Amino acid sequence: MSTTKLIHSLPIDPLTGSISVPIHQTSTFVQDAPGVHKGFDYARSNNPTRKVLEDTIALLEEGDAGFAFATGLAAIDAVLKQLEYGDEIVAVEDIYGGAFRLFTHIYQKFGIKIHYVDTTNADNILEVINEKTKFIWIETPTNPTLKVSDIVKIAVIAKAFNALLVVDNTFASPLSQKPLLLGADIVIHSATKYIGGHSDLVAGLVITKTKALSEKIKFIQNASGGILGPWDCWLVIRGLETITLRFERISYNAQKVAEWLLENDIVAEVFYPGLQSHHNHDVAKKQQKGQYGGVISFSLKQDTEEAALQIVTNTKYFKLAESLGGCKSLICLPSQMTHKSIPREKRLQSGIKDSLIRISCGIEEVEDLIEDLKQAIHKVNSINLVTA
Ligand SMILES: *Cc1c(COP(=O)(O)O)cnc(C)c1O
Repeated sequence: MSTTKLIHSLPIDPLTGSISVPIHQTSTFVQDAPGVHKGFDYARSNNPTRKVLEDTIALLEEGDAGFAFATGLAAIDAVLKQLEYGDEIVAVEDIYGGAFRLFTHIYQKFGIKIHYVDTTNADNILEVINEKTKFIWIETPTNPTLKVSDIVKIAVIAKAFNALLVVDNTFASPLSQKPLLLGADIVIHSATKYIGGHSDLVAGLVITKTKALSEKIKFIQNASGGILGPWDCWLVIRGLETITLRFERISYNAQKVAEWLLENDIVAEVFYPGLQSHHNHDVAKKQQKGQYGGVISFSLKQDTEEAALQIVTNTKYFKLAESLGGCKSLICLPSQMTHKSIPREKRLQSGIKDSLIRISCGIEEVEDLIEDLKQAIHKVNSINLVTA
């Protein structure tokens, strides 16, 4: 969608002409007669500020309807609540850690069975899918090793088995990848990342393809109540106004940084879907419209935590923090931060080496980002010289 269409889809307030969407900070709405109102009765069920956000994300993902939740995990939770005892899920094996925790420690207890498979090869799904499978659940690209799965191929399998395809689209953003147009049924975003875009809130979104699914999620949103409040809705709307500019710049920066890392002597592997060398670059190119986002992971030839620590603690612009998708660049060490709770053995299996560093490029000038990494990498080199 064009930026023009996106920003002009945000309504001008009909009462006052306010060009910015009003924040409707209210719990209830006065009715003309019992049950006769202007479309709003109670703020858990609906709120005019939230409605603007929900309509805008539905437009951007080209779905039937959008729903805003307090966090990305609350959005995931709402989608899961459609399941019944005995239902099964086939999920991408390196799923977001918070989703893994929710699946394993909460939903498994309610009789939901989860099969984790490497979905980068869609055929692996066929090994475990069966008549009880209600969802195929993927993230593409994944965190932190940026594995890419073929949405079109997996959607065909989902249809054949009467299962729904759920895509967590957080890492691609709605700009580069529109899963609903590729055959998915439900899209999820942690709006905490690219959509909010300023590292200043947590929020989640669900977008549905059909009216029937929209009605189900609407019911759950109201029944469970994990909604996003009007102030945060307003911040996410403001994020959406500039997402095209930010995502373009972030993707441009990351592509340059990834290419630079690939040429660096101390770097062993670079994971970025925009690189020719990426395992599923062809699929990424097809479904991500040439914009691959800001997250890059790389490991070091000297595969030790000490070497990686030298880098992550010596950057100036890349701030040491979890999360991604904001204006400021971030750097983290998954084995000691985001993925610390996963046993080392299992981490290594999924490609998270001790020296694996994840960066999230922001909107700074790319020359500054490269210079910053260069001086931090130099610190590792000088240590090597001392110990040699
Ligand atoms: C961050 C993230 C989530 C969880 O979102 P929160 O807003 O932190 O609850 C879910 N999926 C992916 C891929 C994420 O990166």
